[in-house]
Amino acid sequence: MSLVRKLDETHSLTAGEYEMLITRRTPELREHLAALARERARAVYGNRIFIRGLLEISNHCKNGCYYCGINRENKACDRYRLTPEEILEAAEEGFQLGFRTFVLQGGEDVWFTDDRLAEIISTIKERCPGAAVTLSLGERSPESYRRLYEAGADRYLLRHETADPAHYRLLHPAELSFENRMACLRELHAIGYQTGCGFMVGSPGQTAAHLARDLRFIEAFSPEMCGIGPFIPQAETRFREEPAGSAELTCFLLSVIRVMKPNILLPATTALNTRDPEGRVKGILSGANVVMPNLSPPAAREKYTLYDGKRSGGREAAENLKQLKNQMRSIGYEVAVDRGDFIKTKGDKNYGSL
Ligand code: SAM
Repeated sequence: MSLVRKLDETHSLTAGEYEMLITRRTPELREHLAALARERARAVYGNRIFIRGLLEISNHCKNGCYYCGINRENKACDRYRLTPEEILEAAEEGFQLGFRTFVLQGGEDVWFTDDRLAEIISTIKERCPGAAVTLSLGERSPESYRRLYEAGADRYLLRHETADPAHYRLLHPAELSFENRMACLRELHAIGYQTGCGFMVGSPGQTAAHLARDLRFIEAFSPEMCGIGPFIPQAETRFREEPAGSAELTCFLLSVIRVMKPNILLPATTALNTRDPEGRVKGILSGANVVMPNLSPPAAREKYTLYDGKRSGGREAAENLKQLKNQMRSIGYEVAVDRGDFIKTKGDKNYGSL
């Protein structure tokens, strides 16, 4: 049985098979897999593309991740923090435009205590009825995750970054551990969040064997969402001279993940669109079904510099959305005014357990 057929039928490959799929990929295989990925996404979600309004709430961070431009060691980073009022205003503006999910993302900023976040989350839910709140605020305690869930947060994105402990060491300072990252992910899932993991494609030191391990991890963890995007170097980090990850490989992996998990929520990320000006379209045509337009106030966007050249669409949110709708329509998709929740399907590991 060909590897693609096996993946499609059993939703599983061995690590060696994933590695082979990656290293032996050809343009023909890429096209074949992308067409299959589109078909599988359509069978679950139709031609709908879900939008998430991204709010980059702070670039203060207590962590020193070696790849990240807002890490605490970067003295050149111009730090900012949105006020709760600014966050609420941006969410309300997004709601008027048709956004039904807001993603609060930021560095690990201790100013955002559980009390402050719980208040922000519950106020968004009050003022934007029916909208979902996704958090992407890094590692917190189990109690904190529980408290924010009880305040109304629906989803949590926490990329695992790499499923290989030695590779994790290479990318992070000693006080950040692979074990804690994994424990956080398990905790989030157990609490009931729709949980997202993910990784950078082409991060320093990454091999095809590492990627195969990432794919095996995704199979086993069975997340509701998965965020992958190319690594892009940032001038003030120790990885400034490292090559950027490939948009082509990112798209290939999007297709692999879609065929492996037909109902997963899979964004075409900003990093992919930064690496390749056609990245958003290529991501959707590879099986992605989520786009996360930036709703942060323009001054904040400029300072949320995870990597160099980050595209955030300098225009106002309404203008960007119009452009996005046209772009999606031109390739046969419709932007949905919908929370865009994960759809459970029979046979899925999460089926009935959420
Ligand atoms: N602090 C939170 C966390 O750790 O999950 C959320 C913010 S963090 C900046 C969001 C993601 O940005 C990370 O999980 C990482 O994969 C990605 N990222 C950071 N630096 C990057 C870079 N140089 N290139 C591409 N992606 C990067």
